[in-house]
Amino acid sequence: MELPSPEVCYRALQSRDARFDGLIFVGVRSTGIYCRPVCPARTAKFENCRFFASAAAAQDAGFRPCLRCRPETAPHLASWRGTSNTVSRALALIDDGALDGKEASVEILAERLGLGERQLRRLFLQHLGASPISVAQTRRVLFAKQLIHETRMPMAEIAIAAGFGSVRRFNETFRGLFHRAPGALRRKSASVPAAAEARVTLRLRYRPPYDWESMLAFLEARAIPGMEWIEEGIYHRTVEIDGGIGSVEVSHLPRQQSLGVTIRFPEVKALPAIVSRVRRLFDLGADIETIDGHLASDPLLAPLIAMRPGLRAPGGWDGFELAVRAILGQQITVTAARRLAAQLVALHGRPVPAGIAHHPSLTHVFPTPGQLASTDSIGLGMPFARLRSLKALATAVAADPNLFRTQGTIDSAIARLRTIHGVGEWTAHYIALRAMREMDAFPSSDIGLLRGIARIDDNCSTAATLQMRAESWRPWRAYAAQHLWTVDASAIAASKDFYD
Ligand SMILES: [Zn+2]
Repeated sequence: MELPSPEVCYRALQSRDARFDGLIFVGVRSTGIYCRPVCPARTAKFENCRFFASAAAAQDAGFRPCLRCRPETAPHLASWRGTSNTVSRALALIDDGALDGKEASVEILAERLGLGERQLRRLFLQHLGASPISVAQTRRVLFAKQLIHETRMPMAEIAIAAGFGSVRRFNETFRGLFHRAPGALRRKSASVPAAAEARVTLRLRYRPPYDWESMLAFLEARAIPGMEWIEEGIYHRTVEIDGGIGSVEVSHLPRQQSLGVTIRFPEVKALPAIVSRVRRLFDLGADIETIDGHLASDPLLAPLIAMRPGLRAPGGWDGFELAVRAILGQQITVTAARRLAAQLVALHGRPVPAGIAHHPSLTHVFPTPGQLASTDSIGLGMPFARLRSLKALATAVAADPNLFRTQGTIDSAIARLRTIHGVGEWTAHYIALRAMREMDAFPSSDIGLLRGIARIDDNCSTAATLQMRAESWRPWRAYAAQHLWTVDASAIAASKDFYD
């Protein structure tokens, strides 16, 4: 998808059309500021407007972010560029810090995506109007700006959290852009929380519609006691990153078209990683209108889309955790898998130190690959073959922590996963879909999918026919799968015995 014509963009701007939020940014020549299309400020004259496909492109062209509409709060639409999966995947990697730090480079990033550096730059220019480095830099500026506006964090901590490397560089960048020190931006902000606390609360915007109820129901059915907790519409979980332990809570703010995220974590450096995990778990980057529109063109799926507009495909919090859940869930019910996972966490997960967890039900973090790889006995009552695959998985991830990172094509990712003992076609596709965010992954032999499709199509009852049926759902087969799972789950929810 390319940038629409300037006339279309301008009409979106004039009507403050929220559907274009995150898809286009407008730079105003007379002020040097760039805005979201929904900016409440008076609309500039057409001849003064320049339109961009990304905040980075606007910043590259010399515009600075608006303090009123705050371009950093536009939805991050990592997957809207449906015509270029490579760009979507590169954006996800940049979000994870692929271009942060001294050793990072565009060359290495391109290599991980299985293409040449020049080709990646060309794709970025074509779809975003900016280079990968500009995109990474702009994300740092915008994340810092969000922390300035929405939290009470000290400026020195924000510099580290946003990945600037030094407070000096942070100050220089902000002075260059705004002609004032970063701290001066905070005083301009109206909505700063009252007290400084050892926690950070941010709003993460999505592109509506968002089926929060289905998302929460999905997470609740799979919540691992001791590690996850859902209460009064709020999702809580423990977090471990690089040995640090903390927690997050996530709630829905429908009027703001956002999720409210409160993070408690000892190291501010981990904030971008935690935010990016929340975005992934709750699938905030989806251009859901485009996806729903595409799937609804199949008359079979149309009623499902109409019933649950904005249904998201939940991601995994962590690749290893998700893969373990997938293996535990092989051939048993979601409820039984959840029980096993709770045992695993209680036996092998580190306990959460007193004062860290914000809720008494959050007692442990998920075990690390190293912990499971080195233990003599996993100690779960399950078939020996599956215990062996758990161990093989832990050993493989301990040896290659990047196993679940995007590398190459979806087929090569599936093939790599399948080299792990006990990871078959179904498990590999399931991991690719939820942990690696391959939105075209499709575990066609899944029993829940087969039951789901059988409920709406009498002629489709085998994995092979389902696979054929699913061809027209590309490149969003993961969303079709989520609809089929949800149909199946809600049809038999009464028995509380539905399958993955
Ligand atoms: Zn604005």
